[in-house]
Amino acid sequence: MPQLLITGANRGIGLALTELYLASGWDVVACCRDPSQADDLLYLISDNPGLEVYQLDVTDYDGLAALAQELDDRPIDLLINNAGYYGPNAVLLGDIPMEEWRKVLEINTIAPLKVTEAFLPQLRGTKGTVACISSKMGSIEENHSGGSYLYRSSKAALNAVNKSLALDLSPDAIKAVVIHPGWVRTDMGGPHGLIDTATSAQGIKTLLDRLTPQDSGKFFDYQGRQLAW
Ligand code: NDP
Repeated sequence: MPQLLITGANRGIGLALTELYLASGWDVVACCRDPSQADDLLYLISDNPGLEVYQLDVTDYDGLAALAQELDDRPIDLLINNAGYYGPNAVLLGDIPMEEWRKVLEINTIAPLKVTEAFLPQLRGTKGTVACISSKMGSIEENHSGGSYLYRSSKAALNAVNKSLALDLSPDAIKAVVIHPGWVRTDMGGPHGLIDTATSAQGIKTLLDRLTPQDSGKFFDYQGRQLAW
């Protein structure tokens, strides 16, 4: 069975991706910050012997190293860096909250690279794929409304990280892409999002199923359209 490792699997898009890959016959290593609170994820275990749940706060780099070591004999075909954080909603220019900005950068930019680094040996073995869930809000070209300094900067930087990953990992035949999942009805996307989590997950999986080496290093939306940086 092909193997997926995904972060932030307990709710939202991460949970929907976990369900979809399990339904498609994959084994899934589903990571979340607090498995004891992850009822929707744990509920899937009884029907899905291919599901394993592990505790991982993506910014706990000691915990990350320990998990990567625990899973060191595990081939990983696909790593999805999904965990993300928007930060406080009402951020005004002139009053940028520095600690929150650092937290957003830590979760959205630094952690995905550290998670990828930690599992590189497992990805090298399979010539696997790294997919980071980014956002159109990280596109400088698509910024027509300003604001959202914390989140926009973190996802723009994630996109830059991905480009270097794609170039550096190309000799290992590992592909790396960033994906905008759509505006999705989740805790982060809110109730007015345009699509549900299942639609987003299906689009992301269809894109990843068809990914070619030429696609590595690019920025796509969940419908497979290439986005501007
Ligand atoms: P949710 O807010 O529903 O879920 C966020 C997930 O990230 C939760 O599982 C949360 O875990 C996890 N998470 C946050 N911080 C950490 C951490 N330090 N360690 C481990 N896990 C963490 O968001 P979505 O499902 O909507 O978002 C998923 C991804 O999609 C994110 O990267 C987001 O930026 C991106 N995205 C979403 C859009 C949307 O419209 N929804 C649009 C564009 C991009 P916990 O439950 O423990 O907090």
